[in-house]
Amino acid sequence: MAKKNNKDKKKNNKLILFIIGALILIAAVVGIFAFQELKAKEKEISYDQLYQDIVHHQVEKIEMTIGSSTVNIKYKDSDDEKTTNINSLQPFAEFLNNQLEENNPELKVEYKTPNKLMTFFENLLSFLPTILLVILIIMIFKMQGIGEKSKVYGENEENNTGVKFKDVAGLDEEKNELIEIVEFLKNPKKFQNMGAKIPRGILLYGKPGTGKTLIAKAIAGEANVPFISMSGSEFIEMFAGLGASRVRKLFEKAKKIAPCIVFIDEIDAIGSRRTSNSGAESENNQTLNQLLVEMDGFESNETIIVLAATNRPEMLDKALLRPGRFDRQITIPAPDLLGREEILKLYVKNKKLAADIDLKEIAGDTAGFTGAELSNLLNEAAILATRNQHKVIERSDIEAAIKKITVGLEKHNRVVSEKDKKLTAYHEAGHAVVSKFLETQDNVKEVSIIPRGLAGGYTMYKTNEDKYYISKTELEEKLVALLGGRAAEKIALNDISTGASNDIEVATGIARDMITVYGMSNSLGPISLKVDEPYELQIFGENITDEVGVQVKQLVDEAYIKAQKILLDHIDILHNVAQKLLEKETISEEEFNGFFEN
Ligand code: ADP
Ligand code: ZN
Repeated sequence: MAKKNNKDKKKNNKLILFIIGALILIAAVVGIFAFQELKAKEKEISYDQLYQDIVHHQVEKIEMTIGSSTVNIKYKDSDDEKTTNINSLQPFAEFLNNQLEENNPELKVEYKTPNKLMTFFENLLSFLPTILLVILIIMIFKMQGIGEKSKVYGENEENNTGVKFKDVAGLDEEKNELIEIVEFLKNPKKFQNMGAKIPRGILLYGKPGTGKTLIAKAIAGEANVPFISMSGSEFIEMFAGLGASRVRKLFEKAKKIAPCIVFIDEIDAIGSRRTSNSGAESENNQTLNQLLVEMDGFESNETIIVLAATNRPEMLDKALLRPGRFDRQITIPAPDLLGREEILKLYVKNKKLAADIDLKEIAGDTAGFTGAELSNLLNEAAILATRNQHKVIERSDIEAAIKKITVGLEKHNRVVSEKDKKLTAYHEAGHAVVSKFLETQDNVKEVSIIPRGLAGGYTMYKTNEDKYYISKTELEEKLVALLGGRAAEKIALNDISTGASNDIEVATGIARDMITVYGMSNSLGPISLKVDEPYELQIFGENITDEVGVQVKQLVDEAYIKAQKILLDHIDILHNVAQKLLEKETISEEEFNGFFEN
């Protein structure tokens, strides 16, 4: 974004310079004209004066040009030439003839034919200011992009992205896989001679912020080819019928400047599965069809690589994935522990950090963060450090930034009643205490009843490990931890509140996935069940939805009962932790663990 603004600014500066230059030029031309006019005026005498001078024998020579009303006059005793304007040449010529014949024989009269070239230039000169003005107006329009029909709406073009693979941290395997694309763009002949086929379309799958755009730009940067990008969501906003023509123009342009990279972000917006033919969808179909036509229409000697990004691969129309289209798919995962450390290393380069900051530790505290979030985290920390008037970014700044990003900003001035505080204290204590007795759950890092973001309080966990697989036991215990808040409210206050709504939503979602996605239910077994798809219901029958409902409910119910049992067994600890929270508002990992010693 920042880069684009800069470009716009540069463009504006250029425009202003140009306008100033043109104005100076026009002023100069007008000035010269005025000056010449003035000089001519100086030399000019009246017709009556000339008449008198001729009659009194003072004129040596008269020069007249055919077709011109200006007469040049040379006087006998002067080198200066004078001019005068006569309305009509004919009566003046007659008068001169009379003079010559009668009493003025020494007067010389010359008739000249006009110099065609000179008149042409004179005419041109008199039009110059107008011509300049017209050129100026055209340039202004051009520079503002008005009337420039070849420009594609929403499209961005960079001749040189300047991004290199070294600017993309982690993702080593992915970069390795893409190096051959760079080679191909640099030296297509080599591959063609070998008869090797390079994929034309590559689909990048991954969450937003994982660096898909960045890696696409890096390919262009490494190969030193232009990068044209466009976002699928922009097509949706457009008027009917325009989407397809935009796609066509985009590829026309790409062919002109090939070798190049075409990047289509959010391709799911145009390439989602074709189901029915209603309104917006048929519009999408046209756009999608045009995209397919373009992908199929590549000549074998064209060096255009189309990269597309999406975070919803399951939405894509299968036609997009056929051979010759987007037949190579690369998953761009959220960075793992090592990847996060690499990304942090990259972004601390231009920041001042306290000596005791350990990037490995920060990487450990930020499981699930994307590259964009990590870069944002360090930026937030730098802002907090500045606001706190620290000389360098301190640990506390980074911790505060992590909290701000994960649970939202502290809301110090939100007024919380004593009753609400007590409720929150028990709710959060419930989560924390229950987790402590669950084998698979993460350790508690901090518990607080200070409101943040939308939440009245929060329990933060330490997540040091990246997990690729999650076991059934772990998911079941996760449900128990989630319901620990509601369970504590019920046990300690004998009432329940709306504060648990998010916990319940998350827990229900997990339970549902356990049954329908991971095949973890005993009664239904390891089958994939998308109960909202009519097709699946045809296979399994309507009853399957009832059974899924029963199974989901059973998982959640059991978790709720287990959470209550744990809390009842350790009711003293629950009271103590809640009490401490009411006193201190926030308790640390050590303080929390202190309740479990002896
Ligand atoms: P996506 O296209 O996947 O949504 P972007 O490529 O736009 O994500 O990433 C957003 C920003 O996050 C990048 O400009 C970069 O600053 C940062 N970023 C993301 N992943 C990485 C990475 N692996 N290495 C370095 N920076 C990254
Ligand atoms: Zn909760």
